Amino acid sequence: MTLVVTGATGQLGALVVGHLLARGAAPDSIRATGRNPEKLAALAAQGVQTAVADYSDRESLDAALEGATAVLLISGSEVGRRIEQHRNVVAAAVAAGVSRILYTSAPYADTTALVVAPEHKATEQIIRASGIPFTILRHGWYIENYLGSLDEARRTGGFLTSVGEGRVSAASRNDFAEADAVVLTTEGHDGAVYELGGDVPFTVDDFAAAFGEVLGSPVEARRVSTEEHLAALVSAGLDEGTAGFVVGLDANTRDGALEITTGTLGSLIGRPTTSLVDGLRAALPA
Ligand code: NDP
Repeated sequence: MTLVVTGATGQLGALVVGHLLARGAAPDSIRATGRNPEKLAALAAQGVQTAVADYSDRESLDAALEGATAVLLISGSEVGRRIEQHRNVVAAAVAAGVSRILYTSAPYADTTALVVAPEHKATEQIIRASGIPFTILRHGWYIENYLGSLDEARRTGGFLTSVGEGRVSAASRNDFAEADAVVLTTEGHDGAVYELGGDVPFTVDDFAAAFGEVLGSPVEARRVSTEEHLAALVSAGLDEGTAGFVVGLDANTRDGALEITTGTLGSLIGRPTTSLVDGLRAALPA
């Protein structure tokens, strides 16, 4: 049995490897892959197999997946290049004859207006067409994504937001990683598409309260319109493209694209998902 975790050199993947070991998977049954040699060496020090694999380099993927039983494909971070990259990983998985493939997708990837969804939707289609038994793990938003707003609140006493009354079912990166490890090490998930989110959907006022608790001082949610938000980000020095991406995500949030009420994440990990305050505290540097 060889369980391959791609993107294991990243923050989520490293946590998945940790959960696989904690769940009793033999270290030499896990193969952690990525590009970063230092991070691969750190993983090898835990006793797991490692392999260099670049999603853009089919040969490296063929070598990394040789003899694999199952593959967890963690979505890459090179936005705009991911469809071809993920296609390479799936083709290598077919060539290796793997029995299962798992993929970390985005909420409601096939129907949502979420700005990051198109590459995830396309990847899901490639996986379905591959014929390999699959499980789609549609991850909601990480609590860690809000560290920038927390920092803004620390500096200014508040944070700018154009999500209006939208709610986010955020959970910690570690919660998602644990669910990924559970699915990778248990049966009965073939063909499943799991919408994974925190137990509680958070409003901007919940974020303000949690930031205030973490910082020990009151924090104001500064609600603005999309247009005002865009103008403020550009005048603060962000380029138009990045600012547009940020307000686009806020608009998606306002429209409910990040609210997930399935309860599946908590069911898979067998405990309540991490609270906003605990997740933020855990993510802060010691
Ligand atoms: P990280 O940026 O910490 O890790 C990204 C991982 O992807 C790294 O292991 C990196 O490898 C690997 N990777 C990227 N491009 C390639 C490539 N061409 N070939 C091989 N490996 C590649 O992200 P996280 O671990 O936090 O998140 C995992 C994924 O989840 C992200 O890549 C992104 O798709 C998505 N995401 C989800 C968010 C959410 O809130 N749900 C938020 C942000 C991202 P290496 O470092 O070795 O090059």
